[in-house]
Amino acid sequence: YADIALYKAKNSGRNNWVFYQRDMGEKIVQRREMERELREAIQTDQLRLAWQPRYDVRAARVTAFEALVRWHHRQHGILMPDQFIPLAEETGLIGALSDWVLLRACADARRELPGMAVSVNLSAVEFSDKGLPKRILAALEASGLPSSRLEIEVTENAMLQDPDTTLEVMLAIKALGVKFLIDDFGTGYASLNYLRTFPFEGIKIDKSFIFPLSDSSQARQIVENMVGLGKAYSLSVTAEGVETVCQMEQLQQLECDGLQGYYIGKPQPLAQVVAQYGAVSAS
Ligand code: C2E
Ligand code: MG
Ligand code: MG
Ligand code: MG
Repeated sequence: YADIALYKAKNSGRNNWVFYQRDMGEKIVQRREMERELREAIQTDQLRLAWQPRYDVRAARVTAFEALVRWHHRQHGILMPDQFIPLAEETGLIGALSDWVLLRACADARRELPGMAVSVNLSAVEFSDKGLPKRILAALEASGLPSSRLEIEVTENAMLQDPDTTLEVMLAIKALGVKFLIDDFGTGYASLNYLRTFPFEGIKIDKSFIFPLSDSSQARQIVENMVGLGKAYSLSVTAEGVETVCQMEQLQQLECDGLQGYYIGKPQPLAQVVAQYGAVSAS
Protein backbone atom coordinates (compact mmCIF):
# COMPACT_ATOMS: atom_id res chain seq x y z
CA TYR A 1 0.00 0.00 0.00
CA ALA A 2 2.88 2.33 0.69
CA ASP A 3 4.06 1.78 -2.91
CA ILE A 4 0.63 2.67 -4.27
CA ALA A 5 0.62 5.82 -2.19
CA LEU A 6 4.06 6.70 -3.51
CA TYR A 7 2.88 6.17 -7.08
CA LYS A 8 -0.13 8.43 -6.56
CA ALA A 9 2.00 11.03 -4.88
CA LYS A 10 4.29 11.16 -7.89
CA ASN A 11 1.48 11.33 -10.41
CA SER A 12 -1.11 13.69 -8.97
CA GLY A 13 -1.68 16.78 -6.88
CA ARG A 14 -0.58 18.08 -3.54
CA ASN A 15 -3.28 16.38 -1.50
CA ASN A 16 -1.90 12.97 -2.27
CA TRP A 17 1.51 14.02 -1.08
CA VAL A 18 -0.02 14.52 2.35
CA PHE A 19 -1.35 10.95 2.29
CA TYR A 20 2.04 9.75 1.21
CA GLN A 21 3.70 11.52 4.11
CA ARG A 22 1.30 10.04 6.58
CA ASP A 23 1.91 6.57 5.13
CA MET A 24 5.65 6.98 5.39
CA GLY A 25 5.26 8.13 8.96
CA GLU A 26 3.22 5.04 9.78
CA LYS A 27 5.82 2.86 8.15
CA ILE A 28 8.62 4.37 10.19
CA VAL A 29 6.62 3.95 13.41
CA GLN A 30 5.86 0.31 12.49
CA ARG A 31 9.52 -0.34 11.78
CA ARG A 32 10.63 1.19 15.05
CA GLU A 33 8.02 -0.87 16.87
CA MET A 34 9.22 -4.03 15.15
CA GLU A 35 12.84 -3.23 15.97
CA ARG A 36 11.90 -2.83 19.63
CA GLU A 37 9.97 -6.12 19.53
CA LEU A 38 12.84 -7.96 17.88
CA ARG A 39 15.32 -6.71 20.48
CA GLU A 40 12.94 -7.95 23.18
CA ALA A 41 12.41 -11.24 21.34
CA ILE A 42 16.15 -11.96 21.34
CA GLN A 43 16.41 -11.16 25.04
CA THR A 44 13.31 -13.07 26.14
CA ASP A 45 13.79 -16.25 24.13
CA GLN A 46 11.02 -15.78 21.56
CA LEU A 47 13.34 -17.14 18.88
CA ARG A 48 13.29 -20.82 17.97
CA LEU A 49 15.38 -23.06 15.74
CA ALA A 50 13.98 -25.40 13.12
CA TRP A 51 16.30 -28.25 12.18
CA GLN A 52 16.57 -29.54 8.62
CA PRO A 53 18.46 -32.78 7.92
CA ARG A 54 21.23 -33.09 5.34
CA TYR A 55 21.74 -36.49 3.74
CA ASP A 56 25.27 -37.72 3.03
CA VAL A 57 25.18 -39.77 -0.18
CA ARG A 58 28.33 -41.80 0.47
CA ALA A 59 27.38 -42.62 4.07
CA ALA A 60 23.77 -43.21 2.92
CA ARG A 61 22.36 -41.47 5.99
CA VAL A 62 21.70 -38.09 7.57
CA THR A 63 24.93 -36.75 9.06
CA ALA A 64 24.18 -33.05 9.55
CA PHE A 65 21.43 -30.56 10.35
CA GLU A 66 20.94 -26.94 9.35
CA ALA A 67 19.59 -24.72 12.14
CA LEU A 68 17.08 -22.20 10.73
CA VAL A 69 15.77 -19.38 12.91
CA ARG A 70 12.07 -18.54 13.50
CA TRP A 71 10.48 -15.81 15.57
CA HIS A 72 7.49 -16.93 17.61
CA HIS A 73 5.77 -13.56 17.84
CA ARG A 74 3.08 -13.05 20.49
CA GLN A 75 0.56 -11.47 18.09
CA HIS A 76 1.74 -12.39 14.61
CA GLY A 77 2.52 -16.08 15.14
CA ILE A 78 5.57 -17.71 13.59
CA LEU A 79 7.64 -15.30 11.50
CA MET A 80 10.10 -16.67 8.93
CA PRO A 81 13.68 -15.37 8.57
CA ASP A 82 12.92 -13.39 5.40
CA GLN A 83 10.45 -11.35 7.51
CA PHE A 84 12.97 -10.17 10.10
CA ILE A 85 16.61 -10.92 9.15
CA PRO A 86 16.79 -7.86 6.84
CA LEU A 87 15.55 -5.66 9.71
CA ALA A 88 18.09 -7.26 12.05
CA GLU A 89 20.86 -6.51 9.53
CA GLU A 90 19.82 -2.89 9.07
CA THR A 91 19.44 -2.14 12.78
CA GLY A 92 22.58 -3.91 13.99
CA LEU A 93 20.52 -6.45 15.96
CA ILE A 94 21.96 -9.20 13.75
CA GLY A 95 24.96 -9.66 16.06
CA ALA A 96 22.82 -10.42 19.10
CA LEU A 97 20.53 -12.60 16.99
CA SER A 98 23.45 -14.63 15.63
CA ASP A 99 24.95 -15.04 19.08
CA TRP A 100 21.63 -16.50 20.22
CA VAL A 101 21.47 -18.82 17.18
CA LEU A 102 25.09 -19.94 17.55
CA LEU A 103 24.80 -20.78 21.23
CA ARG A 104 21.38 -22.47 20.91
CA ALA A 105 22.47 -24.50 17.86
CA CYS A 106 25.79 -25.62 19.39
CA ALA A 107 24.22 -26.47 22.75
CA ASP A 108 21.32 -28.41 21.20
CA ALA A 109 23.61 -30.31 18.84
CA ARG A 110 25.99 -31.19 21.65
CA ARG A 111 23.24 -32.41 23.97
CA GLU A 112 20.68 -33.94 21.62
CA LEU A 113 22.35 -34.86 18.34
CA PRO A 114 25.50 -36.83 19.13
CA GLY A 115 27.93 -37.15 16.23
CA MET A 116 25.92 -34.89 13.94
CA ALA A 117 27.33 -31.78 12.28
CA VAL A 118 25.36 -28.56 12.67
CA SER A 119 25.29 -25.67 10.25
CA VAL A 120 24.36 -22.09 11.05
CA ASN A 121 23.66 -19.24 8.62
CA LEU A 122 25.51 -15.99 9.15
CA SER A 123 24.76 -12.76 7.29
CA ALA A 124 27.35 -11.28 4.97
CA VAL A 125 27.48 -8.07 7.05
CA GLU A 126 28.83 -9.97 10.06
CA PHE A 127 32.13 -10.75 8.38
CA SER A 128 33.14 -7.12 8.77
CA ASP A 129 33.13 -7.69 12.55
CA LYS A 130 36.65 -8.65 13.63
CA GLY A 131 35.15 -9.86 16.90
CA LEU A 132 33.22 -12.63 15.14
CA PRO A 133 35.84 -15.39 15.68
CA LYS A 134 35.76 -14.71 19.44
CA ARG A 135 31.96 -14.82 19.45
CA ILE A 136 32.03 -18.21 17.71
CA LEU A 137 34.68 -19.50 20.08
CA ALA A 138 32.50 -18.39 23.01
CA ALA A 139 29.55 -20.44 21.67
CA LEU A 140 31.80 -23.49 21.19
CA GLU A 141 33.26 -23.20 24.68
CA ALA A 142 29.95 -22.55 26.42
CA SER A 143 28.32 -25.53 24.70
CA GLY A 144 31.24 -27.94 24.63
CA LEU A 145 30.58 -28.72 20.96
CA PRO A 146 33.77 -29.80 19.16
CA SER A 147 34.59 -27.17 16.52
CA SER A 148 34.84 -29.90 13.86
CA ARG A 149 31.06 -30.34 14.12
CA LEU A 150 30.19 -26.70 13.40
CA GLU A 151 29.73 -25.36 9.86
CA ILE A 152 28.90 -21.83 8.81
CA GLU A 153 26.85 -21.05 5.73
CA VAL A 154 27.43 -17.73 4.02
CA THR A 155 26.28 -16.38 0.66
CA GLU A 156 28.55 -15.09 -2.10
CA ASN A 157 27.61 -11.52 -1.14
CA ALA A 158 29.93 -11.74 1.86
CA MET A 159 32.90 -11.66 -0.53
CA LEU A 160 31.67 -8.45 -2.19
CA GLN A 161 31.31 -6.17 0.82
CA ASP A 162 34.74 -5.93 2.41
CA PRO A 163 36.85 -8.77 0.98
CA ASP A 164 40.00 -8.09 3.01
CA THR A 165 38.31 -8.06 6.42
CA THR A 166 36.02 -10.94 5.41
CA LEU A 167 39.02 -13.08 4.46
CA GLU A 168 40.85 -12.22 7.69
CA VAL A 169 37.80 -13.04 9.80
CA MET A 170 37.13 -16.28 7.92
CA LEU A 171 40.72 -17.46 8.29
CA ALA A 172 40.58 -16.84 12.05
CA ILE A 173 37.35 -18.87 12.27
CA LYS A 174 38.80 -21.64 10.12
CA ALA A 175 41.78 -21.76 12.50
CA LEU A 176 39.30 -22.71 15.26
CA GLY A 177 38.44 -25.82 13.22
CA VAL A 178 35.09 -24.55 11.89
CA LYS A 179 34.15 -25.16 8.24
CA PHE A 180 32.52 -22.83 5.71
CA LEU A 181 29.91 -23.60 3.07
CA ILE A 182 28.78 -21.24 0.31
CA ASP A 183 25.01 -20.94 0.54
CA ASP A 184 22.66 -20.38 -2.43
CA PHE A 185 25.54 -21.09 -4.79
CA GLY A 186 24.90 -19.75 -8.30
CA THR A 187 22.66 -16.84 -7.29
CA GLY A 188 25.24 -14.25 -6.15
CA TYR A 189 27.35 -11.73 -7.97
CA ALA A 190 30.85 -12.58 -6.81
CA SER A 191 33.41 -13.78 -9.35
CA LEU A 192 34.42 -17.43 -9.13
CA ASN A 193 37.84 -16.29 -8.01
CA TYR A 194 36.65 -16.35 -4.44
CA LEU A 195 36.53 -20.15 -4.62
CA ARG A 196 40.34 -20.07 -4.63
CA THR A 197 40.83 -17.14 -2.27
CA PHE A 198 38.39 -17.89 0.56
CA PRO A 199 38.60 -20.98 2.80
CA PHE A 200 35.44 -22.85 1.77
CA GLU A 201 34.96 -26.55 2.33
CA GLY A 202 31.83 -26.92 0.23
CA ILE A 203 29.09 -25.37 -1.88
CA LYS A 204 25.33 -25.64 -1.58
CA ILE A 205 23.70 -25.37 -5.00
CA ASP A 206 20.69 -23.07 -4.75
CA LYS A 207 17.29 -24.71 -4.93
CA SER A 208 16.31 -22.72 -8.03
CA PHE A 209 18.75 -24.93 -10.00
CA ILE A 210 17.37 -28.13 -8.47
CA PHE A 211 13.63 -27.47 -8.94
CA PRO A 212 13.64 -27.81 -12.79
CA LEU A 213 15.82 -30.94 -12.72
CA SER A 214 13.04 -33.44 -13.37
CA ASP A 215 11.84 -32.05 -16.67
CA SER A 216 14.74 -30.29 -18.34
CA SER A 217 17.95 -31.76 -19.74
CA GLN A 218 19.42 -28.26 -19.80
CA ALA A 219 18.84 -27.96 -16.06
CA ARG A 220 20.61 -31.28 -15.61
CA GLN A 221 23.55 -30.07 -17.67
CA ILE A 222 23.86 -26.94 -15.55
CA VAL A 223 23.82 -28.86 -12.28
CA GLU A 224 26.34 -31.34 -13.70
CA ASN A 225 28.65 -28.44 -14.52
CA MET A 226 28.23 -26.97 -11.05
CA VAL A 227 29.13 -30.32 -9.49
CA GLY A 228 32.18 -30.49 -11.77
CA LEU A 229 33.16 -26.98 -10.78
CA GLY A 230 32.92 -27.87 -7.09
CA LYS A 231 35.03 -30.99 -7.58
CA ALA A 232 37.64 -29.04 -9.56
CA TYR A 233 38.07 -26.81 -6.51
CA SER A 234 38.04 -29.81 -4.11
CA LEU A 235 34.78 -28.67 -2.55
CA SER A 236 31.99 -30.87 -1.28
CA VAL A 237 28.75 -30.31 -3.21
CA THR A 238 25.31 -30.26 -1.58
CA ALA A 239 22.03 -29.77 -3.45
CA GLU A 240 19.30 -27.71 -1.75
CA GLY A 241 15.58 -27.97 -2.42
CA VAL A 242 15.39 -31.70 -3.20
CA GLU A 243 11.64 -32.26 -3.23
CA THR A 244 11.15 -35.45 -5.29
CA VAL A 245 12.63 -38.91 -5.56
CA CYS A 246 13.35 -38.17 -9.22
CA GLN A 247 15.53 -35.20 -8.30
CA MET A 248 17.25 -37.25 -5.62
CA GLU A 249 18.11 -40.04 -8.06
CA GLN A 250 19.48 -37.65 -10.66
CA LEU A 251 21.60 -35.86 -8.07
CA GLN A 252 23.05 -39.15 -6.90
CA GLN A 253 23.91 -40.01 -10.52
CA LEU A 254 25.58 -36.61 -10.85
CA GLU A 255 27.66 -37.49 -7.78
CA CYS A 256 26.46 -34.82 -5.43
CA ASP A 257 27.91 -35.39 -1.96
CA GLY A 258 24.99 -34.05 0.06
CA LEU A 259 21.25 -33.68 -0.38
CA GLN A 260 18.87 -31.38 1.45
CA GLY A 261 15.21 -30.61 0.87
CA TYR A 262 11.64 -31.49 1.74
CA TYR A 263 12.05 -34.98 0.24
CA ILE A 264 14.81 -35.74 2.75
CA GLY A 265 13.12 -33.82 5.54
CA LYS A 266 11.48 -30.48 6.30
CA PRO A 267 12.82 -28.11 8.95
CA GLN A 268 11.33 -29.30 12.26
CA PRO A 269 11.50 -28.55 15.98
CA LEU A 270 14.40 -30.22 17.80
CA ALA A 271 12.22 -32.76 19.66
CA GLN A 272 10.87 -34.18 16.40
CA VAL A 273 14.31 -34.39 14.84
CA VAL A 274 15.71 -36.12 17.94
CA ALA A 275 12.85 -38.64 17.90
CA GLN A 276 13.49 -39.37 14.24
CA TYR A 277 17.28 -39.32 14.03
CA GLY A 278 18.62 -39.35 17.57
CA ALA A 279 18.95 -43.11 17.85
CA VAL A 280 20.54 -43.39 14.40
CA SER A 281 23.22 -40.83 15.19
CA ALA A 282 24.21 -42.62 18.38
CA SER A 283 24.90 -45.87 16.52
P1 C2E B 1 18.91 -21.00 3.30
O1 C2E B 1 20.05 -21.02 4.23
O2 C2E B 1 19.20 -21.20 1.86
O3 C2E B 1 17.92 -22.10 3.85
C1 C2E B 1 17.12 -22.89 3.04
C2 C2E B 1 15.71 -22.38 2.96
O4 C2E B 1 14.98 -23.17 2.04
C3 C2E B 1 14.95 -22.53 4.29
O5 C2E B 1 13.98 -21.49 4.34
C4 C2E B 1 14.27 -23.88 4.12
O6 C2E B 1 13.10 -24.01 4.91
C5 C2E B 1 13.93 -23.85 2.66
N1 C2E B 1 13.87 -25.19 2.07
C6 C2E B 1 14.59 -26.27 2.43
N2 C2E B 1 14.29 -27.34 1.66
C7 C2E B 1 13.37 -26.93 0.78
C8 C2E B 1 12.65 -27.58 -0.29
O7 C2E B 1 12.81 -28.75 -0.58
N3 C2E B 1 11.78 -26.82 -1.00
C9 C2E B 1 11.56 -25.50 -0.72
N4 C2E B 1 10.68 -24.85 -1.46
N5 C2E B 1 12.21 -24.86 0.28
C10 C2E B 1 13.10 -25.55 1.02
P2 C2E B 1 13.84 -20.55 5.62
O8 C2E B 1 13.92 -21.39 6.87
O9 C2E B 1 12.64 -19.71 5.40
O10 C2E B 1 15.12 -19.66 5.56
C11 C2E B 1 15.32 -18.72 4.56
C12 C2E B 1 16.68 -18.12 4.63
O11 C2E B 1 16.84 -17.32 5.80
C13 C2E B 1 17.80 -19.14 4.71
O12 C2E B 1 18.10 -19.63 3.43
C14 C2E B 1 18.93 -18.34 5.30
O13 C2E B 1 19.62 -17.63 4.28
C15 C2E B 1 18.20 -17.33 6.17
N6 C2E B 1 18.35 -17.73 7.59
C16 C2E B 1 17.75 -18.74 8.25
N7 C2E B 1 18.16 -18.80 9.54
C17 C2E B 1 19.06 -17.79 9.68
C18 C2E B 1 19.86 -17.32 10.78
O14 C2E B 1 19.86 -17.86 11.89
N8 C2E B 1 20.66 -16.24 10.55
C19 C2E B 1 20.73 -15.64 9.32
N9 C2E B 1 21.55 -14.60 9.17
N10 C2E B 1 20.01 -16.06 8.27
C20 C2E B 1 19.18 -17.11 8.44
MG1 MG C 1 21.60 -22.07 4.58
MG1 MG D 1 20.34 -21.80 0.52
MG1 MG E 1 19.08 -18.35 1.44
